[in-house]
Amino acid sequence: MQNHIQEHLATLDLAHIWHPCTQMKDHEQFPLIPIKHAKGVYLYDFNDKGYIDCVSSWWVNLFGHCNEYINNAISTQLVNLEHVILAGFTHEPIITLSSRLCALLPDALTKCFYADNGSSAIEVALKMSFHYFHNHGEKRNLFLALNNAYHGETIGALSVGDVALYKETYAPLLLESLRTPAPPTQFGDYASALESLEQILKIHGTQICAFILEPLIQCAGNMHMYNKDYIHEACILCKEYGIQIIFDEIAVGFGRTGSMFALEQCGVVPDYLCLSKGISGGYMPLSVVITTDSIYQAFYAPYATYKAFLHSHSYTGNTLACAAANAVLDIFLHDNIIAKNKELSTYMQQEFALLQDSNKVTNMRICGMVVAFEVITSKERPNIFIFQEGLKRGLLLRPLGHTIYFMPPYVITRDLIHYVVQCLKEIIAML
Ligand SMILES: *Cc1c(COP(=O)(O)O)cnc(C)c1O
Repeated sequence: MQNHIQEHLATLDLAHIWHPCTQMKDHEQFPLIPIKHAKGVYLYDFNDKGYIDCVSSWWVNLFGHCNEYINNAISTQLVNLEHVILAGFTHEPIITLSSRLCALLPDALTKCFYADNGSSAIEVALKMSFHYFHNHGEKRNLFLALNNAYHGETIGALSVGDVALYKETYAPLLLESLRTPAPPTQFGDYASALESLEQILKIHGTQICAFILEPLIQCAGNMHMYNKDYIHEACILCKEYGIQIIFDEIAVGFGRTGSMFALEQCGVVPDYLCLSKGISGGYMPLSVVITTDSIYQAFYAPYATYKAFLHSHSYTGNTLACAAANAVLDIFLHDNIIAKNKELSTYMQQEFALLQDSNKVTNMRICGMVVAFEVITSKERPNIFIFQEGLKRGLLLRPLGHTIYFMPPYVITRDLIHYVVQCLKEIIAML
């Protein structure tokens, strides 16, 4: 009976829902999985089969599904105010959230501009940077990004991204942007990457508004972890040319890399910090670009000068989402999450190291709460095979091509990490 509901919902779904990042024809072969409820790291389907959410539901969930504390915060907020226009009006959750975020960040980052998803935050940062120079009477209209970057799917964000699978088709529509190589490894040499950057700056330095990068991990770029010292030195070079720095911490912010924000490890204060995904603990769409007072001042003028940043989204700074975000910050504080994650990360490293016994596993790497490695396989589309075998064992894994990664909610236990590794061992042996 239960099974029947599961199939029925999947069929109804396919009648009207066009899913993201999906070749819909694949669902002729692979069934959709309707989820009935969830708790902690587990998602449950209509047969009450549980799946460990090894990808934090696309990297957004931090403290588990149906977290009681966040649920309560949203329910409490819901009684008083669900949403209000953020132009000309404001609300308490967003004021609290903004001051708390700024308090967690370097002193120079003081002004929060909100949107409702990661790509929109990138659009805001790009437009704001261009507009900053415009307001200063300086003509700059290029952006510089790293090879293998991912910044989202809207036209502007795609323009600075470099993942061909998402970008190639739309190339004729995109803005012109410049690209420089990311260093090849986490701890190794980055001199040649810096040299390439210097070459580009010598030619285009005065035309570039901003250098945009995902500090420490290019997540959608197959979890590429790269040298933090490069980031530090590259940003210094860019600043010498008056180029602004945009840190896209949409995926890596909120503790993912081991520190609250990746910028702490890089020793860089960016001009724009883009945050989303984990900001609301995976509950509600919310994003923010946090910038400096000097950038804010470049837009601060009488209305008739047309210097204002008039960008907006209907759901900008949604009240319920801000209430969730405040609850997330409470949990970080009260449960000492950053320190606890350090221990969990060490355990993850030990456990995943066991997989290296297989000669099919290469390039094992870890950064905070992200582990990744490549699998060597002769089979076509290993990602679908691994996905399917994962599901059989109650794991939601979503390999990126040959890259398998584990990026769980922070409430994952040691026992479950051990279980995931044992399952992966079995699956890899089948490749
Ligand atoms: C997910 C992601 C984005 C885009 O965010 P959306 O909310 O999916 O639009 C941008 N940058 C990075 C690094 C991301 O991981």
